[in-house]
Amino acid sequence: MYDNLSIRDGHMHTPFCPHGTKDTLESYVEKAIKEGRREITFTEHFPMPEGVTTETFRRECTLLEEEIPAYIEAIGRVKVNYKERIAIHLGFEVDYIEGYENKITDALNQYATTIEDGVLSVHFVKFENQYYAIDYLPDFETLLTKIQSLEKIYDLYFETVLKSIEADLGKYKPKRIGHPTLVRIFNKKYPMAYENECLFQAIVTALKEKKYEIDFNMAGLKKEFCKETYPSGRLLELIKKEHLPLILGSDAHCAEQVKIDLSSF
Ligand SMILES: [Zn+2]
Ligand SMILES: [Zn+2]
Repeated sequence: MYDNLSIRDGHMHTPFCPHGTKDTLESYVEKAIKEGRREITFTEHFPMPEGVTTETFRRECTLLEEEIPAYIEAIGRVKVNYKERIAIHLGFEVDYIEGYENKITDALNQYATTIEDGVLSVHFVKFENQYYAIDYLPDFETLLTKIQSLEKIYDLYFETVLKSIEADLGKYKPKRIGHPTLVRIFNKKYPMAYENECLFQAIVTALKEKKYEIDFNMAGLKKEFCKETYPSGRLLELIKKEHLPLILGSDAHCAEQVKIDLSSF
């Protein structure tokens, strides 16, 4: 089932990423070929709706709408240039933001014909009408103070992941759920043995029903306070037990990071 895991990388960023690097698309592609990939998807951060966070932070997180045409054109170009050597797909990493479903749907519909593949990720969780970026330490810590326990942060995060799977985002909703244990990004600083079997089971059942794929994401391995893949632990076990499709994602933000590590698989 998972024998061919290493031929594809379904989650890569680009020089268009505001918090990434200026490494060229060609350097990402060359590295992917060198690492043995035969198929890749560029998944730049899809523009986030206004109002979720400050304008300054939004600018750091995702593309702006006006940057999309240049992105599409550039990916189209490498796709053609490398077509004999590797299959390249144009995609986006779309933020699932609770309460913004209609806006996200409208935005996706606009690019319907150009999007070939994609990842739907939870980076933001909503608590008492405020949004917190779960992978940004100051937000994580502010939320911890307000919500009062790590377990509640984990509950909120996984409940949001479940909502992202169940949400109606229209016909062009991505079919792959991004790094579904991202909440563990600071687990070395804030240790948590989370065992909400019931919630994990609900997530796995929903993934199965929707026939979604799971982004088996490598980014956490190199994060100072994480050192594990997303998903990991019990959730990964349940996913494997159900034989749900895992698609590797280097989540590279520079060419050097276009690699995968299956040692913990
Ligand atoms: Zn990023
Ligand atoms: Zn992400």
